[in-house]
Amino acid sequence: MLRIGPASLLASTLLYAGPAWSAEATGAGAAAPPVVAGQGTDAIDDAALVAAGSDPKDWITHGRDYAEQRFSPLEQVNESNVGRLVRVWTYPTGLTRGHEATPIVVDGVMYATGSWSVVFALDAKTGKELWRYDPEVPKAVGAKACCDVVNRGVAVYEGKIYFGALDGRLIALDAKTGKPVWQVVTVDQDKAYTITGAPRIVKGRVIIGNGGAEFGVRGYVSAYDTKDGKLVWRTFTVPGDPSKPFESEALEKAAKTWTGEWWKIGAGGTVWDSMAYDPQLDLLYVGTGNGSPWSRIERSPGGGDNLYLSSILALDPDTGELRWHFQTTPGDNWDFTATQHMILADLEIGGRSRRVIMQAPKNGYFWVLDRESGEFLSAKPYVEVTWSDGVDPKTGRPIENGSADYAKGLALVKPTAFGGHNWQPMSFNPKTGLVYIPAQEILGGYRIDPKPLLAKEHYNTGTDMAVFAAMTREIVAGHLLAWDPVAQKEAWRHPYAMPWNGGTLTTAGNLVFQGTADGRFIAFRADDGRQLWEFHTGSGVIAAPITYSVDGVQYVTVVAGWGGAFALAGGDAGAQGGQPSKGLVHTFALFNQPITPAMVEGLLSGRPDADAKREDLYHKWCSRCHGVTAISGGALADLRLSSPDVQSAFVEIVQKGMPGVGMPAFEGILSPDEIREIQTYVKSRPH
Ligand code: CA
Repeated sequence: MLRIGPASLLASTLLYAGPAWSAEATGAGAAAPPVVAGQGTDAIDDAALVAAGSDPKDWITHGRDYAEQRFSPLEQVNESNVGRLVRVWTYPTGLTRGHEATPIVVDGVMYATGSWSVVFALDAKTGKELWRYDPEVPKAVGAKACCDVVNRGVAVYEGKIYFGALDGRLIALDAKTGKPVWQVVTVDQDKAYTITGAPRIVKGRVIIGNGGAEFGVRGYVSAYDTKDGKLVWRTFTVPGDPSKPFESEALEKAAKTWTGEWWKIGAGGTVWDSMAYDPQLDLLYVGTGNGSPWSRIERSPGGGDNLYLSSILALDPDTGELRWHFQTTPGDNWDFTATQHMILADLEIGGRSRRVIMQAPKNGYFWVLDRESGEFLSAKPYVEVTWSDGVDPKTGRPIENGSADYAKGLALVKPTAFGGHNWQPMSFNPKTGLVYIPAQEILGGYRIDPKPLLAKEHYNTGTDMAVFAAMTREIVAGHLLAWDPVAQKEAWRHPYAMPWNGGTLTTAGNLVFQGTADGRFIAFRADDGRQLWEFHTGSGVIAAPITYSVDGVQYVTVVAGWGGAFALAGGDAGAQGGQPSKGLVHTFALFNQPITPAMVEGLLSGRPDADAKREDLYHKWCSRCHGVTAISGGALADLRLSSPDVQSAFVEIVQKGMPGVGMPAFEGILSPDEIREIQTYVKSRPH
């Protein structure tokens, strides 16, 4: 099997030859028009977004469709041939730190983000950069981000690209040029608000939330007009100062579930990631985050559920009004956010078809609710849960057992603030009926921080991070969990040595794809979990993969780039992966066509004379040790990655050799000019 990239001789030739290199491709030989940024984006309107799920070709909204299922009907790549998946291009983002984006693909153009809210448009077939936009977020803002300077991607609508910048701006770019059309500041920038989540577009409005519940902010979600960035509505998730008028009846009700002077310390409940939309019910779902601070006796000393922390909220997308809510962790005390990915599906439960919403939030329970009414249908632990002894079968309210209430002293709790599952998106395959969850097992230690709370703008959990640090040296692991949401039980699992693995993608080809913390990208059979294929990504993966097709060829893309909360704060456990943090957008497709002699002849005769001369010199003297394409097979250091010192001493090193490591001397065999020709060839090889 060829597991080689565009840098390889044959793969690059075949890549440029277009779809002919894939046996299943259609339209081979037809001259494709040049790829232009923005093409097809004018057609992304409300109707296109509603129909996104049935469009097999593109990936036009964050979770692929409004139901956020992350299921693709594409099956050119499937369980029988995924072993022949090869990398066809890699785009280095040039950025370090966490990369969490789900790319969007419209009509052969990919739009994705890296760290520091940098956006780029790429030719989805070749990885060629079409434009790049850096919003130049002031680096000081990084200190306000609890969980790395990450960004989870863009939204596209009627010719524009929308994204949130870490500093709280919402920015609209011209999809063709990457130039800003409008931008608005969505937060009070004197407070510790940040945006890391991807916007969604619903009925001509950009829906965007923010983060900051570790820093004493008050959570909210807003809707802006896509045309001009005008604010249409804003819904706060937790009540403010009760001596002032409440913004809504829902908040007046919520205030009855709070005690003390919560508004002075912020309260939390931020909408920092998950959303979904049901166009038939016309309901927008948002997940809300933890209390600020985490310790509830400091936040709401007289107790109370503290609505609407750690809840799923169903909102009217025209007004932002609350239609129903379901709180997954009443009186949150542990950073048990309900901001984890939500999936809408129709499931056969108890002999009738139910329109459900599903979530596996941090607290360890897998929830299935009726998404029209918010009615509780079922909940079961999808990882080990020690803080609660199950849920009330009628109300769905978790039954706290007291073991995790650290007001009385140190408490050991599972799951922990990192969650049984965090923001890494899960996926649902209607063919297998299974949900694929990036699950993790981390033991949490909670104790009231003996130090007083800091001012609101500072990191302020109210818990002693020293205890937390001690715990992350203990039990840490992860697994890909295939979960049956009807039976509420595990179907299969694939264990990993580390937690904090990537989001998942599932396809009609009976496949599940997931990247891992230790830098692999793996394909599994969706029905039984058998591993079918694996690729080494060069950096830990936390983002979720996507798939799309261009000119009849199915591609699979994953963004690698180790980082995020666990990589920052995970201590010894987070360092286990040892993966360098660098952003790499990897794209794969099937390598199907047998290599023929004519293909090789064609390639050799197609080289310019100077290139051929250099390459022949390299092959004559160097390639048997340093790789036929100047890509090291791994036994020796990769010449393409030589340090500047080695590059400048290249002629001398080759002349004198390195007897200590067995590198022969070429003085008298190769002239300095010939050695420089070889160096030029090596430098010309992509890496
Ligand atoms: Ca949090």
